[in-house]
Amino acid sequence: MDKKIAVLAGDGIGPEITTQAVLALKKVADKFGHEFEFEESPIGYVAHVKKGQALPQDTIEACRNSDAILLGAIGDPRADKLPPAQQPERAALLPLRKIFDFYANIRPAKVFPALADASPLKKEIIGDGLDLVIVRELTGDVYFGKKDMDEQDTWRSDLMKYSRPEVDRIARKAFEIAKTRPRKKVTSVDKANVLYTSTLWREVVTKVHNDYPGIELEHYYVDNAAMQLIKNPKQFDVIVTGNLFGDILSDESSMITGSLGMLPSASLGEGTFGLYEPIHGSAPKYTGLDVANPIATILSAAMLLKYSFGMEKEAGAIDSAVEAAIANYRTKDIFTEGKKLVGTSEMGKVISKLI
Ligand code: NAD
Repeated sequence: MDKKIAVLAGDGIGPEITTQAVLALKKVADKFGHEFEFEESPIGYVAHVKKGQALPQDTIEACRNSDAILLGAIGDPRADKLPPAQQPERAALLPLRKIFDFYANIRPAKVFPALADASPLKKEIIGDGLDLVIVRELTGDVYFGKKDMDEQDTWRSDLMKYSRPEVDRIARKAFEIAKTRPRKKVTSVDKANVLYTSTLWREVVTKVHNDYPGIELEHYYVDNAAMQLIKNPKQFDVIVTGNLFGDILSDESSMITGSLGMLPSASLGEGTFGLYEPIHGSAPKYTGLDVANPIATILSAAMLLKYSFGMEKEAGAIDSAVEAAIANYRTKDIFTEGKKLVGTSEMGKVISKLI
């Protein structure tokens, strides 16, 4: 099956980690008899310097002409001097999501048994691992609501707003994902005891649930959800929530895993087209040092195979290779005594060999 992948390496450690993810995808193509074509385009500060824009039109077109996008990371300390509207995250990442209407951000928070010690939670809470997924709405809510201020700038405001179709489609994404998981449970998180927007959220999620009789649904207020994630994270399977609450809860859940360098993400719209990237940033202090952990990006490539190409077996081969690799090999961020310390490129090679 011929597939085209737009590769946006970006800034900082972006090029090093995407190189390793592309290596893994090439190995999958060889092993399973697929043809993947890769087209690289600049994004972020690199693009701002080269083309005068953090998200150049050519890059948008390259994405449009592909079946999926693999992104490294965006962000460079030298961009701090730029006016806010030209700063790479604001000028590239948010527009990229908006242009392609990637309204669903899927973030698995998985603690591999071999890395259970890396979690800041006690052993009796985390046990031999954790496996939950946060489904965050990405193109609505207070982040995209009307911004306002009075003439004297004595107040500013952001409008929190959700429409029924926006909640309907993200709820469906969450129920569909829950269908593919053994526990088949969705926790919807809102603040329906205070926020009017949340009463609509809860109403719509409950209605959509009628179409998914095999899936259990529960509702949590966001304050309770934040607490429960620390107290008893294993109770969760799929969490679905709005843009603002999802931003915070997904970072909280990633910290529970204790290893930023291990966590992938997918941003999806309607259909199979999607954007795949590690949850971490460009870690500028590690640029070019061959120390960054490429696993979050390699696991993002596995999500790409699963969600955009429907290649479950191939995605599973990457997941298993990662699990096998960390049994013996570790990058600096996840290193423990008794394991072999390796750099970015060696970790990538080990994983590719194990696929
Ligand atoms: P960061 O995620 O880049 O790094 C935080 C720390 O986590 C690093 O200093 C490093 O110790 C560790 N780390 C992150 N990724 C790692 C990896 N793969 N391997 C090993 N260790 C890793 O966050 P930051 O330092 O706050 O931000 C740096 C830049 O990245 C900023 O410009 C920020 O705006 C940007 N950023 C971009 C994205 C994105 O592209 N989606 C996300 C977050 C931050």
